[in-house]
Amino acid sequence: MNEFDLIREYFTWPIKDPSVALGVGDDAALFSLEQGYQLVTTTDTLVEGVHFSASTPAKDIAHKSLAVNLSDIAAMGAKAKYFTLAISLPKLDQSWLKEFSDSLRQLSGYYKVSLIGGDTTRGSLTITINMFGIVEFSKALTRSGARPGDGVYVSGTIGDAGFCFWKLGNGLVPSNQELKRLNCPTPKIELGLELKNLASACIDISDGLEQDLTHILKASSVGAIIEVEKIPISEALYVHIKDTNNWSIPLCGGDDYELCFTAPEDNEEALKMVSESCNVNITKIGVVSESLGLQIEGFDGPRKSYQHF
Ligand code: ADP
Ligand code: MG
Repeated sequence: MNEFDLIREYFTWPIKDPSVALGVGDDAALFSLEQGYQLVTTTDTLVEGVHFSASTPAKDIAHKSLAVNLSDIAAMGAKAKYFTLAISLPKLDQSWLKEFSDSLRQLSGYYKVSLIGGDTTRGSLTITINMFGIVEFSKALTRSGARPGDGVYVSGTIGDAGFCFWKLGNGLVPSNQELKRLNCPTPKIELGLELKNLASACIDISDGLEQDLTHILKASSVGAIIEVEKIPISEALYVHIKDTNNWSIPLCGGDDYELCFTAPEDNEEALKMVSESCNVNITKIGVVSESLGLQIEGFDGPRKSYQHF
């Protein structure tokens, strides 16, 4: 099997989206945009040894590669449409490729995003996905719209992925549910689309709540006060925190891929309805303030969110 057979066998499948004129197989892909929409694009790379370990199953690597990119599109309030896949493989391992390809095809079918091209090279295992989405002109959610008085909200529960990672690093065995939160995050696509009309700023939590919320605050030239006791956390993590009084996992643990957003007080009722319709919990954890910086009430212990350098 050569490179081109590999692309045909594992990364080529029929595209159902009629806006794609040309997908995998030519020098580049072609698709058309509806009038009145802007193209939204994002890239995320996953590297073995940095974003996942050598023992992570191929299906989970495929899931996470796609989900982290979908999560960025969700945070923009956009609809995900197309993606390209650049993959570096140390060797041609057909059973690994089949597992990766089946998982990618299944998840991309679920979210109705089309694989329209990519690149295949030999090298240490690295997956880069470039995702394209669309959003009505000037409706995209950005980091810069938070205003004093807005509430600070998060979706789901925070710190589960970080807790799983902490367990793995401390010789403990995480449950399957905990492993799923780390390896197979659920991008909040539907919620992002609804928040487009209600939130003033939004970000997805990839590097830790504290750091990601700070990005919103800096971009919006505001500050915020949050209370650790209000951060929604799972039962197991709650027990751990009660024992250790250490809130650094929900504050700084990355990889949750929940949304953190700000919204005017007037939208509180509408947010409750969105929470129900999307079947995602939304929790208010604080309020945006005029004085700059993030004030965290209830914990002043050591904190360090993830940074590559
Ligand atoms: P070129 O040399 O012109 O860049 P390639 O040989 O890299 O072409 O790719 C041939 C076709 O296969 C292109 O349409 C490219 O987008 C697609 N492709 C290559 N690798 C992948 C991949 N991993 N997933 C999806 N499409 C791919
Ligand atoms: Mg190429």
